[in-house]
Amino acid sequence: MTAPHPPTQGHAPACSGVNRNGAPCRSAIVAKNGWCLQHDPDRAGERAAAYRAGGYGRSNVRRSLKALPVGLMTVLDLLHQALREVHDGGLEPGRASAMARLASAIVQVHTAGEFGERLAAIERQIGIGGRG
Ligand SMILES: [Zn+2]
Repeated sequence: MTAPHPPTQGHAPACSGVNRNGAPCRSAIVAKNGWCLQHDPDRAGERAAAYRAGGYGRSNVRRSLKALPVGLMTVLDLLHQALREVHDGGLEPGRASAMARLASAIVQVHTAGEFGERLAAIERQIGIGGRG
């Protein structure tokens, strides 16, 4: 017996939303109205309140988010989505933990790269730069 598609995904409704990167939303949790929590137009007020509570409206938080490299912004979006999906029961905590470990590794690579650039800039400024 060969099934071309995984059997459990045939009936799963898809969210009508589009993610920030332009891709269709793939949230595992979709309400009967065809939207996930993140995209449901009827829950925009709830989301805005949650954003305010989380400090997203503060200018210093907005600035630090804008300063994130594009790759890290994607990681951050994925982690936020995973957090919601674990909370709602759609994502296994073990998979979320694996995502968190990979995200941490990605951040470490970015941090090491940025640290190296800043160190090289300081070395150039004080005239001891040996690495160009
Ligand atoms: Zn959605």
